[in-house]
Amino acid sequence: MRAKRSKKYRKLMHQYEMAFGFREPYQVLVDSNFLRAVHSFKMELIPALERTLQGKVKPLLTKCSLAAIMASQPINPKTNNPYRPMHLPPPTILPLRHCSHNEDSTPIDEVECLLSLLSPSTEVKRNKEHYILATADPPASDKADSGDGKKRKRGDDEGRDALRRAQKLRIGARSIPGVPIVYVKRSVMILEPMSTPSEEVRDGVEKSKFRAGLNDEAVLGKRKRTEDGEEKKTKRGPKKPKGPNPLSVKKSKKKAGEPASGPKQEKQEKRKEQKSDEAPGRTNDDGESSAPKPKRRRRHHKSSKGDGDDGHAGELSNGAEAATAPNE
Ligand SMILES: [Zn+2]
Repeated sequence: MRAKRSKKYRKLMHQYEMAFGFREPYQVLVDSNFLRAVHSFKMELIPALERTLQGKVKPLLTKCSLAAIMASQPINPKTNNPYRPMHLPPPTILPLRHCSHNEDSTPIDEVECLLSLLSPSTEVKRNKEHYILATADPPASDKADSGDGKKRKRGDDEGRDALRRAQKLRIGARSIPGVPIVYVKRSVMILEPMSTPSEEVRDGVEKSKFRAGLNDEAVLGKRKRTEDGEEKKTKRGPKKPKGPNPLSVKKSKKKAGEPASGPKQEKQEKRKEQKSDEAPGRTNDDGESSAPKPKRRRRHHKSSKGDGDDGHAGELSNGAEAATAPNE
């Protein structure tokens, strides 16, 4: 169950990387409810976020969120400052994100602050800083004390208001394309599926890639139609629609052109490999020298040594494979 979930999340983050340009370390804006929930379920902020997002994270707390946390704290009579709450990690773990919404930089409402950071412009909603939002529902108002009516009612109203604001934040974040949302539910940290606006952008990116692929095939005229149908099928499938397909097509073409190789030829190929190491741009008279190269590269990639230049090149071009490779 856990392995299945982490695979799903890795795939989802990969989609955010491909469609919206997210990169590690992921910047995570955490809100006051999230910090309270993380603390109450005894999670560790950074490890829990990294397990959920399947990558390195850099959590951030806005000044306005900090103000919201401190506002609900009792005042220490000795210092005249509010007590630092247990659920607020030190700045070494959770640095402050400076935000300024007005001339004298007084903190504003936490929800307004976070939404304005996620999409600075309200006209064109865009998460250009690539923030991830980490939030949670406010703690349930103490239903245990069913005593004095008036006091309880006020508590309920406050609880309902806090819940409404938490929902407003999440709905607002979902309306901005490309905002991954992490939230804590009971004792589990969850990465929300892509919102509809995010999916629309992601599918737009995929479609343009798909069209670019079709234009390559367009030279083949009639065959285009059958390719069309095939491509659509693979696209609908749940597994890695983009990366590996064009690669495998290329390889199969080369293999088809190759004559059946005996043991002698393997030796020749090995020699060619060494040669091509010395002069990579060089091609031999028969043009076969390019065939063994991808083979070798793939071996490098699968053994995941990644020590040489080849390893890095493999990582870049086979990004989709790398991200979806079973690693549990
Ligand atoms: Zn702010």
